[in-house]
Amino acid sequence: MLGELALGILLGVIIILIIQGFNIFPFLFLGFLAYFVWQLGTGGVERMDTNTDTKKIPLIDFKEIGGQETAKKELLEALDFLKDLPAIKEMGIRAIKGILLNGPPGTGKTLLAKAAAHYTDSIFISASGSEFIEMYAGLGAKRIRNLFKNARNSARKSGKNSAIIFIDEIDVLGSTRGQVSSHMEYDQTLNQLLVEMDGLSIDDDVQILIMAATNRMDVLDPALLRPGRFDRIVNVDLPDKDGRLSILKIHTANKPLSPKVDLEEIARETFSFSGAHLENLANEAAILALREKSPFICQKHFIEAIDKVIMGEKLDRKPNKEELKRVAIHETGHALLGEIMNPGSVSVISISSRGRALGYVRHNPADDLYLHTKDYLEKQISIAIAGSVAEEVLLASKSTGASNDFKQATRLVKIMIEAGMSELGVVDKDTIPEKVLYEEMSIILRRIEAEVKIIIEKHKELIEKIAGELLAQESFSGDKLRELLTEEKVA
Ligand code: ATP
Repeated sequence: MLGELALGILLGVIIILIIQGFNIFPFLFLGFLAYFVWQLGTGGVERMDTNTDTKKIPLIDFKEIGGQETAKKELLEALDFLKDLPAIKEMGIRAIKGILLNGPPGTGKTLLAKAAAHYTDSIFISASGSEFIEMYAGLGAKRIRNLFKNARNSARKSGKNSAIIFIDEIDVLGSTRGQVSSHMEYDQTLNQLLVEMDGLSIDDDVQILIMAATNRMDVLDPALLRPGRFDRIVNVDLPDKDGRLSILKIHTANKPLSPKVDLEEIARETFSFSGAHLENLANEAAILALREKSPFICQKHFIEAIDKVIMGEKLDRKPNKEELKRVAIHETGHALLGEIMNPGSVSVISISSRGRALGYVRHNPADDLYLHTKDYLEKQISIAIAGSVAEEVLLASKSTGASNDFKQATRLVKIMIEAGMSELGVVDKDTIPEKVLYEEMSIILRRIEAEVKIIIEKHKELIEKIAGELLAQESFSGDKLRELLTEEKVA
C-alpha cells in the first residue's frame, strides 16, 4: 500500500518536472542503477515462486492417495512424532527434521507431502530445487534462509505450531558438493540448507519438517542423508496392480462410469503406469466418451485412452498403401512372437498412427514382474526384433521403422550381459571393454535373430493373413488375434 502511494507521488513529481522543462533522464538512469544495486544487495530480486499461500493449497487426505501403502505407513509413523511433541521430549528423542521421498515422477510424492501437512495441521510451503539455483552467488543461500523464515512467520500468523517445507527435485540443489565446477552457487545453497536443518530444535515455537522429493537419490550429497538431516527415506514406487486399481477408483469417483466398466482389467492393462498416468487415463477416457456424446464412460473408452496415454493422440497421417502393408506385417511379426512367447499377452494390435509410431502392439504382462530371468529377457528381445525380421522375410527388405525396436533389443541384451547371463559370465559393467561388450551383444542378437527367423518363416502365410485383416480393420484386440491363431492351430 505504502509502496503504491510512493510510486504515485514519484510519478507525479516526474510529470511536473517534465512539464517544467527539466531534463530528468540522467536522474532516471541513476535511479534505476541505484535500485538495481540495492535489489542485489538485499536480495530484492527474489523471484522464487515459493508457494507460501496456505489457503491455495487444497487439503489432501491420505485416503485420497491410492496405493503406496508402505510409503503411507512409514510416513505416518514419522509424522506421529511431530504430532506428539511432549511425549517425544519426555523420552529425550531427537525430532525428525527431514523426510526424503524417493521415486519416479508422478507417483504421488507431492500429494504425500500435502497430506502430511494436513495430517499434522501444519503450514505447507513448497519450492522446487531449481528455484534456488541462480547466476548470482549467494542468492540461493539467501532464498533458503527466507524459505525457513517464511515458514516460521506463516505458521505463527496462522496460529499453527508446525510447518512442512516441501522441496521438489532436491537433487538439483543437493547433489554432491564440488561436482558443479562452473560456480560455487550450488555448494553455498546446499550448505545453507544444511545449516538451517542443523539449527532446527525440538524447543522451537514452530516445528519445521523438511520433506524433499527426488528420483536421483544416487547423486545426493551424503551430508544430506546423514542422521539428523534427511534420515527418513520413504520409497514411493510405481503402483502395483492393486495400487493402480485404487488410484483408478479415486480418479473415476467423480465420473459417470457405465456399470459394465471393469476397472480391474484396466489396472491389469496399465503395468508401469504412475498415478499421474492413471489420472490422465481417466481424464482421457472421459474426453473420448464426451466426443462420442456417450452419457457414460465405457470400457472401450478406457482401452483407447490407454493407447493414447502410452503412444499419444491418434494422427491423421496416412502412410501410402505400400508403407501401410509394411507396417501391418511389422506389427503382426511383433504380435505373433508376443503370443507364441507369452500366450495371452497381446492386448491390442494396430496400424493407426499415434505419436511417432505408424503402428503398435500393446503387450500386457500376466502379472507385475519385478525380476527378470534370462528366458524372459530373451523372449522380450525376440518380440522386439520380430517386426523387422517379418519385414525381411515377407518383403525381402528391412526399413527404418525398426530403430526403436533395436534400441530396446540392445538395451535388453546389455542388461543380460551385465547381469552375468552371457558367455562372459559375471562381469563388471563399468570396466568391461567396449569391444568385448559389442562382440558379445552381436553374438546374442544374431542367435536370437536366427531363431526368430525360423518361426517367422514357418508362419509366413499366417502373417500375410493377419496383416490383411489388420489392413482391413486398422486395429483389433488381442482376443481377435488369438482367435485367428487358434484357427491356424498356432495357439
Ligand atoms: P514429480 O516427481 O514429477 O513432481 P510426484 O511424485 O510429486 O511427481 P504428484 O505431483 O504427487 O507426483 O502427482 C501428480 C498427479 O498424479 C497428482 O495430482 C494426482 O492426480 C496423480 N497421482 C499420482 N499418484 C497418485 C496416487 N498415489 N493416488 C492418486 N493420485 C495420484
